[in-house]
Amino acid sequence: MPASELRTHLRTCPLCEAMCGLEVTTEGDQVTRIRPDREDVWSKGYICPKGAVLADLHHDPDRLRTPLIRDGKQWREVSWDEAFETIAQRLHPVLESHGIGAVTAYIGNPTAHNFSLSRYVGAFMPMSTLPIIYSAGTVDQWPKNVSSALMYGGMWTIPTPDLDRTDYLLVLGANPSASQGSLLAAADILGRFDAILARSGRIVVIDPRRTATVDHASEWVPIQPGTDAALLAAMVNVLFAEGLVDPGRLAELANGIDRVQGLCRAFTPQSVEASCAIPAETIRRITRELAAAKTAAVYGRIGTCNQEFGTLASWLVDVVNFLTGNLDRPGGSMFANPIAWSLTTIHPPDQPPGFAFGRWKSRVRGAPEVLGQYPVSCLAEEISTPGEGQIKALITIAGNPVISSPDAGKLDAALPLLDCMVSVDNYLNETTRHADVILPGLSPFEQPHYDELLWSWAVRNAGNYSEAIFPPEPGRLAEWEILLTLAAIISGAKPSEIDCHVLDDLYFSGLVGLIVADESSAIAGRDPGEIVRMTGGTGPDRLLDFTIRSGPYGDHYERNTDGLTLAKLRERPHGVDMGALEPRIPDILRTPSGKIELAPEHIVADLPRLEARLGRREDGLVLVSRRHLRSNNSWMHNVEKLVRGRDRCTLMIHPDDAARIGIREGGTARVASKSGTIEAPVEITDEMMPGVVCLPHGWGHDREGIRLNVATRHAGVNNNLIAPGDLVDVPSGNAVVNGIPVDVTPA
Ligand code: SF4
Repeated sequence: MPASELRTHLRTCPLCEAMCGLEVTTEGDQVTRIRPDREDVWSKGYICPKGAVLADLHHDPDRLRTPLIRDGKQWREVSWDEAFETIAQRLHPVLESHGIGAVTAYIGNPTAHNFSLSRYVGAFMPMSTLPIIYSAGTVDQWPKNVSSALMYGGMWTIPTPDLDRTDYLLVLGANPSASQGSLLAAADILGRFDAILARSGRIVVIDPRRTATVDHASEWVPIQPGTDAALLAAMVNVLFAEGLVDPGRLAELANGIDRVQGLCRAFTPQSVEASCAIPAETIRRITRELAAAKTAAVYGRIGTCNQEFGTLASWLVDVVNFLTGNLDRPGGSMFANPIAWSLTTIHPPDQPPGFAFGRWKSRVRGAPEVLGQYPVSCLAEEISTPGEGQIKALITIAGNPVISSPDAGKLDAALPLLDCMVSVDNYLNETTRHADVILPGLSPFEQPHYDELLWSWAVRNAGNYSEAIFPPEPGRLAEWEILLTLAAIISGAKPSEIDCHVLDDLYFSGLVGLIVADESSAIAGRDPGEIVRMTGGTGPDRLLDFTIRSGPYGDHYERNTDGLTLAKLRERPHGVDMGALEPRIPDILRTPSGKIELAPEHIVADLPRLEARLGRREDGLVLVSRRHLRSNNSWMHNVEKLVRGRDRCTLMIHPDDAARIGIREGGTARVASKSGTIEAPVEITDEMMPGVVCLPHGWGHDREGIRLNVATRHAGVNNNLIAPGDLVDVPSGNAVVNGIPVDVTPA
């Protein structure tokens, strides 16, 4: 291609749930401009500052393009063959001496946003036969996974507020002005909030901090961190006490309505108001408003998950939606029906419907397994504590747990104890600096894109496929090839004998066999060999074609000739929109009873703990975390355009608390928890409710040996250094990073 030739490419931004359409202009191998794609059927011209600087990620000189092997403190660029040989040489002795139980993996959040990783991490896990893995999920949304698994029979069967049709939106612990939507896919989400207000709707935001989302809402109600479940239980109490319960058609499709009434009887508004710091009359008013609205939706997000009662809060969000008749109806809280179904949603065919918990316990602290995982804060002690079953080898996949996990310092100290550590990652960061080998994936522009899971909680049934903009450099491997090769090495294969395309064929054939055997599938009973032959391509493209064609709008392999295929999607680079969400219950239910389980035992057994919380006085300060629009957890801090300007890694504190403690604006505060002490610049603001202080997460790029030249100059402080690893939500094992008791003093 001539260097001067200008070309325009249509892409979906892969960074977050908003999935914005981009128009990317290139000249030769350079990206010269990124603008919103105004014709994108989903995002209609919306982007945020992060999407506009994706080129900086692609051209970032710190982005790794070649495998690295660590020799002491030095790194050496090596061929892929040498990298895989080295991995086998270090991993196989671990397997021979200690068995597969000594090997584990950590899956990071960017996995969900990557075309290859999102489709192949599910292949990597069974092929590698790792008995347990760890993930960022147990710092993020595990409570919602638990409540959805038990209420609907699918851990990713998560309802989404129907923003475009609702009249009343109750938002708890979510800040779309920063996140742009989380477990909720909606481009220009604040524009959608504004539209609710413009049609005389009402939005109430419940949060310890008056975030910028409140600027697009009707009312802000501050709440004591960790008490959302108590508030929601009191709302349930009011609904029953005042005769406002009306589940509509779902009443016949649910078990446990009476049980819920009995369980919430003790949670009167008066009994929770002191704990929640919300007057009983406000609780009653909001409940009545919600019940009286023509349509309404309760949306709870990260602040309701990574807190002391995350599972109870996540469950009660859906209970309130159900009791007010707003679950699974237009304008309420609904379930998307994605064009391409997600591989993550497959229930293993050898397991009966339903979920068991605590099937095994972690070796050191005895933490029960939840949905196949232990809390990520267990990882450090499982590495550092000698004995049978000690973790000796770790694979990290697109994650930076040294920054993002509670008790981060312990993990940082434990990783050098491993006999073998391999990282699939594009950066030499705080975590990967401990690896023996780093295997870099492709840049977002060197690979196609179609979000695998995120459409499952979109506000419309839509989809968009993006072609790669640049071909990968010769010899580069895509992440799916890396994962399959790693899985084979873990299984004992010699790298020289591994053909990841053969493995891919096996994986794909097995998957097709599963789906045609599923009576609920659109291609049930078909000849699997025929389906394999009719599905073109390889790798994630082939999987995408399959999940589209066997999906709700697919061609069902020529049974529905007008239906969608990947080829048809490619012809529509601005995307396809199949319309607004439609009711999906009972079809979507996979519980053993075939009904909504409104009072799952595993969840309601935690209510006495919540009741006990009501008697607890919070005399000191508690710490919560936050995120910024120009940041994305720990992974956008090496882009100068996003981090320049005033320091955003500050300790926010209410003026009354600052005056009492004697700290001043711009000064430095020492923040101490039972896990440690950090220092941060002070930002005094009445955005915070009294008694609550706030630090952003994802920072702390001051570790020796990282190769993040921009981030290092804007290091910030790692709030997870003082997040106690033993502070977890009991039913899910999810970390508590909102509501940590702290002492704040002048430094
Ligand atoms: S909101 Fe920003 S980061 Fe998210 S998809 Fe859109 S442009 Fe990308």
